[in-house]
Amino acid sequence: MAPLSDTDRKLRRARLISLLGEQKLDVLLVTSLPNVRYLTGFTGSNAALVVSGDRSVLFTDPRYRIQASEETGYPVRVAKGPLITAVAGFLKNARWRAIGFERAHTNYDAWTILDEAFPSGARLKPTATLIERLRMVKSDEEIALIRQSMDATVRAFEQVIHRVRPGRTELEIAAELDYRMRKSGAEQPAFETIVASGPRSALPHARPTNRRLAEGDLLLADMGAFREGYASDMTRVAFLGKPPARVKQMYNAVLLAQLAALEAVREGVAAQSVDRAARQVLRNFKLDRQFVHSTGHGLGLEIHEAPRLGKRDRTVLQAGMAVTIEPGVYLQGFGGIRIEDTVAVTRTGCEVLTRAPKELLML
Ligand code: ZN
Ligand code: ZN
Repeated sequence: MAPLSDTDRKLRRARLISLLGEQKLDVLLVTSLPNVRYLTGFTGSNAALVVSGDRSVLFTDPRYRIQASEETGYPVRVAKGPLITAVAGFLKNARWRAIGFERAHTNYDAWTILDEAFPSGARLKPTATLIERLRMVKSDEEIALIRQSMDATVRAFEQVIHRVRPGRTELEIAAELDYRMRKSGAEQPAFETIVASGPRSALPHARPTNRRLAEGDLLLADMGAFREGYASDMTRVAFLGKPPARVKQMYNAVLLAQLAALEAVREGVAAQSVDRAARQVLRNFKLDRQFVHSTGHGLGLEIHEAPRLGKRDRTVLQAGMAVTIEPGVYLQGFGGIRIEDTVAVTRTGCEVLTRAPKELLML
């Protein structure tokens, strides 16, 4: 695994310190693990980071003593008990007056311990999405990792999909996709692989089951990998046999919506207008009410990150953002179609990182 370079670590820290200045915070307690990883490079499953302009410390437990010292350039403190107790003690001894914490990533237990350490409460300041905002715009190296992650996913998909035959179960296909992703260099699937067949494809977030594929089934596969911590995400749809006109029409509508949304992606455009572009096409086909989710989402160290390409997100797209474009339509009792690519936003448009054909696959 490529460690976070010293330069990147310093750059990310400097950006955060300047945000803390804007927020009038002396220090930030980071408890979101992807945020800790983003700042320090530490990949363990138990950590808390205290960051300030003059002093920063990474807290973890004895299992990660060696790993933490190898992965990060930050001073490491190994706590024997709960990390939050060690952190609270450390913060209490320091003289910071305004202590930020991540409101979305601090649970009630942790909050209670912090609150007891600072009884007046005035020094503890909730923050929202500070580091998430930094993470939205990726460096060239981060985009390269997402590209590699996507390549591993596409390779796995292509190795498996053409050998799918009636009689196979959704679970068997999902297991094979996961196996092939790892064989292609991924650490693990980025989320539970979705393989949904027949009428089950109308469930946008279906779990694979023991259902056996039959001639005349739609087959939807939504999958992604983590590669050096970075996620990718794609969806393709196949048909077993010769697709009827209704399936072809539905597929065509979703494809046109997906292409319209891709066309709308560019630096300077609001996230919601990309969503609008997809929705408008589906409205022309009277399928917009069957499009029940947003057009896409950011991704990086997590499979779902800001921005959200939905009706209400006014985030202005910037070059270096990585987002998915994934309109879909779902008809209960009949089936669903979604087409999803991962793309990198550029100044003039976007680079499609999912290098896989997009016509309806016939098996
Ligand atoms: Zn997906
Ligand atoms: Zn997605």
